[in-house]
Amino acid sequence: MHSHTHEGSLQFCDCANNILTATNEAAAQPGGGARRQVIVAGKRVKTIDVHAHCVIPKALELQGKDHMKERGPGLGDVGLRRIGEMDEQGIDVEAISINPHWYKAERDLAVEICKINNETLAELCAAHPDRFVGFAALTLQAPDVAVQQLEHAVKKLGMRGAAIGGSVAGDEFANAKFDAVWRKAEELGVLLFIHPQGTPELAHRLKGNGWLANVIGNPLDTTIALSHLIFEGTLDKFPGLKVCSAHGGGFLPQYAPRSDNGLRVAPEMDTGVKLKKKPTEYMRDMYYDTLIFTDEALRHLAHEVGVEKLVIGTDHPIPWQADSINHVLNCPHFNDAQKRMILGETAGKLLGIAPF
Ligand SMILES: [Zn+2]
Repeated sequence: MHSHTHEGSLQFCDCANNILTATNEAAAQPGGGARRQVIVAGKRVKTIDVHAHCVIPKALELQGKDHMKERGPGLGDVGLRRIGEMDEQGIDVEAISINPHWYKAERDLAVEICKINNETLAELCAAHPDRFVGFAALTLQAPDVAVQQLEHAVKKLGMRGAAIGGSVAGDEFANAKFDAVWRKAEELGVLLFIHPQGTPELAHRLKGNGWLANVIGNPLDTTIALSHLIFEGTLDKFPGLKVCSAHGGGFLPQYAPRSDNGLRVAPEMDTGVKLKKKPTEYMRDMYYDTLIFTDEALRHLAHEVGVEKLVIGTDHPIPWQADSINHVLNCPHFNDAQKRMILGETAGKLLGIAPF
């Protein structure tokens, strides 16, 4: 199932009327607002956003946190307000995740938090099944529980995978203690959505102007997580594991070839892990969202990982990217078939969402 063909990667579109064929139309909605329909070369695409956040106030309260203090207007809303914003943006389906705020909590509390998160998110998604699907929250600090949570969330609650951070309070996903969770995800065939939680270890260096704890800390967190999954052989152990990273995989794909050269320069740093492929080849086995802002960044990401590995990520309702749809539609480096894949077809296959 894991093809890593390189020939299907990036074709440059020379189609002069591409802009004309990649159009948008709006249709009146019963609610009054207009729902933007995304049409590429005459065919409507069911657009799917894999990177959309929410919080469940009841679960936050268990840690004494107030959801109103969380970033993002409407973060606590998985309903009509959110749908209205999706309609405006042209997002048909959101795969919603809850950033893991419980990895440092003690086991029983974390289990309770995840239970509330999963049951509530599943209920909210079920109220609008054509617009929302959910990613499960997992108590990864207790991997035995996380295995059960994942199975229950997928089989009983209809969730399409799990949303995980960039580490488990500093423990790398490549640590063998998490293997049972990845084995279960592989067995279920569901997606793991990696969303970084910053690099608090670098708090001192990242303070000051620029919100560097996020701007640098988040993509760095993802880069470290993915690098360990590659270099420790975790992806060799679980070749069917489906991993999708936020923010285009952080810095890793943008800086990919360095990973192929480290152990050549310093063979004494090889700990003895025998990888089956070059590090950059594993990058082509994973998925990445498009939250990287420019045409050139998209082109380069597609070049390094394969255009068939890209999916829309908006960060909704956090305003990082105002128009993720046009970012793809207007990107001059993709042809119509590739745009349809990125806008929804690839995510549809990963998440079990049927096209229109
Ligand atoms: Zn995000």
